[in-house]
Amino acid sequence: MELACLDLEGVLIPEIWIAFAEETGIEELKATTRDIPDYDQLMQQRLRILDQHGLTLPQIQDTISRLSPLDGAVEFVDWLRERFQLIILSDTFYEFAQPLMRQLGFPTLLCHRLEVDASGRIVGYTLRQRDPKRQSVRALQLLNYRVIAAGDSYNDTTMLTQAEAGILFHAPDNVIREFPQFPAVHSYADLKKAFLAASNRELSL
Ligand SMILES: [Mg+2]
Repeated sequence: MELACLDLEGVLIPEIWIAFAEETGIEELKATTRDIPDYDQLMQQRLRILDQHGLTLPQIQDTISRLSPLDGAVEFVDWLRERFQLIILSDTFYEFAQPLMRQLGFPTLLCHRLEVDASGRIVGYTLRQRDPKRQSVRALQLLNYRVIAAGDSYNDTTMLTQAEAGILFHAPDNVIREFPQFPAVHSYADLKKAFLAASNRELSL
């Protein structure tokens, strides 16, 4: 039995924090896991910046409501779901992801939760567990699934390592250089081929 695990931001949808940084003009909010591999450190920095500027969850959700999946992402998800059970493993938050997941047809999503006070201020967050993407793959393997995973960034690499097959998609050069063991592709057409190559079943485009 085979299962596909995909990262969300940078693979199917734009980077939410970068979109919000562009709308607000706050350069420091552009940092992602590509720049700061420690997710806790990155989130603490983001919340500090939001507080400094008095920005709240509804303002971020307003930006997200105008975002769309990346070009070709909806078609790719449909293609993948015809051939594999699909689970999205993301370091985003349910409070952010909803409108974009609707556009993707609500595939299963495992991610984190924000802690928000009555004024909409984000006061903290609950990470589902430590190293959540790798732990999710491990758990699925305990259910006798063979996992093929794809992601674009540092926070995906333990997931890609744990999976029976890992694929880098849209990854920046530094990640591709540091993790030469994973095939690196840059288009959905090539990502489909990489999934077919990694599968131990006879599947076709
Ligand atoms: Mg990503």
